[in-house]
Amino acid sequence: MIWDTCVKHYLSLIKNGCPEAWRPTRCRHCEAEAGFHRHGHYTRMVYTLEEALKIIIFRFRCTTCRKTFGLLPSFLTPYRTAALDVQERVVRELDSGLSVRIVADGLSLPTQPYSEKSLWRWKKDWDRLREAVEPSFWNAALSRFPHLKLPRGSGIPRTGWGWLFWVWEMVRAQLTDKPGTGCLQWLSHLAWSAAVSA
Ligand SMILES: [Zn+2]
Repeated sequence: MIWDTCVKHYLSLIKNGCPEAWRPTRCRHCEAEAGFHRHGHYTRMVYTLEEALKIIIFRFRCTTCRKTFGLLPSFLTPYRTAALDVQERVVRELDSGLSVRIVADGLSLPTQPYSEKSLWRWKKDWDRLREAVEPSFWNAALSRFPHLKLPRGSGIPRTGWGWLFWVWEMVRAQLTDKPGTGCLQWLSHLAWSAAVSA
């Protein structure tokens, strides 16, 4: 996984092929930590809130288990064409209480239409991940902001997502060098870090 990158940044990084710094450090199949050979690339469609485009995904083969895997940039999730900015908008709108029909209708993207069922499934998947990350999320938040001033009164978030988005606003202010990063990218990153250190 290539962290903290948006589509534009990614495209600029791969102009001359796969950067050497992206060589994987762990096999997602067998957990081997070395021995990866380049194994070509494939293209896939990505739909962001602004555009539809084809991007290249680089593949590697693990010499331990012989399986191949692609290096997905962090604005994508496996098997979904919608980039995380699209998915984040859906999660935010559903969490704010909008109906799935209204959210689906409101997605006037330069994109393929997504069914209400798909949007619902995205939300459920992200709900599960958010719940799994909850403890490490608060650790990460408090280590970044030891003097965190919690909101009061009407400013108190009403949902788990509300709290996550609230903390994310502060984290984002620190990530001035990564303007394209969204909350779901950060959440995936936390989940991944938690799994690795577990
Ligand atoms: Zn392997």
